[in-house]
Amino acid sequence: MLYLSTQGGHESDISSALMQGLSPDGGLYVPEELPSINASQLSSETIPSFAVDLLSPFFENSSLSPVLGEICRDALNFPIPLHSLETKNGDLAVLEVFHGPTAAFKDVGARFLAACMERLLPEFSTSDTRPVTILVATSGDTGGAVASAFHRRAGVRVGVLFPKDQVSPRQKHQLTCWDGNIRSFEVDGSFDDCQTLVKAAFTNPELNRVHRFSAANSINIGRLLPQAVYHGIASLQYWRAHGSRPNFIVPTGNLGNAMACIWAKGMGMPIGDIVLATNSNRTIADFLATGHYETRPSIPTLASAMDVGAPSNMERLRHLFPDLGSLRTAVECYPVHDQAIRSQIAKDYDRFGRLWCPHTATGFWAYDNLPESRRLDKAWIVVATAHPAKFNNIVQGIVNLKEIEVPSSLASLFGLPAQFEPLRAELGAFSEALARWDE
Ligand SMILES: *Cc1c(COP(=O)(O)O)cnc(C)c1O
Repeated sequence: MLYLSTQGGHESDISSALMQGLSPDGGLYVPEELPSINASQLSSETIPSFAVDLLSPFFENSSLSPVLGEICRDALNFPIPLHSLETKNGDLAVLEVFHGPTAAFKDVGARFLAACMERLLPEFSTSDTRPVTILVATSGDTGGAVASAFHRRAGVRVGVLFPKDQVSPRQKHQLTCWDGNIRSFEVDGSFDDCQTLVKAAFTNPELNRVHRFSAANSINIGRLLPQAVYHGIASLQYWRAHGSRPNFIVPTGNLGNAMACIWAKGMGMPIGDIVLATNSNRTIADFLATGHYETRPSIPTLASAMDVGAPSNMERLRHLFPDLGSLRTAVECYPVHDQAIRSQIAKDYDRFGRLWCPHTATGFWAYDNLPESRRLDKAWIVVATAHPAKFNNIVQGIVNLKEIEVPSSLASLFGLPAQFEPLRAELGAFSEALARWDE
């Protein structure tokens, strides 16, 4: 399988695409052609065995191909359950993708990428034996998932940069509770300052002589591919039980989760319509409505992990559906404002006795606002992207709960001691901090 850059100037095999992240021409890697799968022949027994069936065409002829089973068992080692919900009418289920170590779906992609990179490193280190330093700027969920995924893996270390006073106390703990090969830096500035600092380090010739940098951000195809696994297996389980294709609603920010759903469907998994739910950041909704693509600065919302004004995976989506007509057939988008998020959380706590994180609530709002005939005629699966306990500061007040039960994986992180280095938002200070790491 060959991977092409969305910018059209580069092609790569899977191993280099995973190690590089971004293509040298600035584009995002996409498979030359989506493999076509005969869904009825796939095993839906366990997640790792399904993952190997679904993903092996993407790894054909690569050095990862013989170890793909091992990688899938290593990375996808937690449940991803599909629960049906009691509704008066209609057929509704929730796909809980948040049972990984940091309680958000990003664990799936980060763990898979880490498992691949660890196994690729020896092959990429024949002339360079320095450890790879992964730098990740984070506004919350990504940094924790990446730190957890790479913790104690050989040959790699991770620097997490997060903005001071702009992450919740629980998020901060998750970003700073690591030891060994992970370091956390509390940047005196905004998330944008963190990102600027990481970019400045990546492009600084002096620093690149000393360090061997890499990135693990969400544009890496190694984070996207495994996300097709849970959409795929959920659709197959549903289809085997009921004989029809479920529709999916995917809470969306950078379009990584949704893109994987679109790929799973494109490969032949029994997925019906795909509906994107966003927060008040309307870039995708307005593009679908007007055909005019305009990125904008992000607006802060309750669903903060989806505060995106320029969705990074839009390039992949437009590459797959170059004309507006086919794009509109492939996806629809429901933007959801904060007040609607709040009332949806309260409503569904009443209706189902279930608590959603603010991101997941956008998906349920979209479900409730579908045209009635569509809601009643078809089965719908809403993807739940994070555990509500991660956002207890928002959720508890809405439903008047004193304390949300914390899942054990998250609770064990909260029990670890935290450590971080304060960092001024300038490259000089950052290069000194990186130098201290080598001592
Ligand atoms: C990252 C994230 C999203 C958005 O996912 P994208 O792949 O960026 O569209 C939604 N919900 C949660 C909880 C997240 O962490």
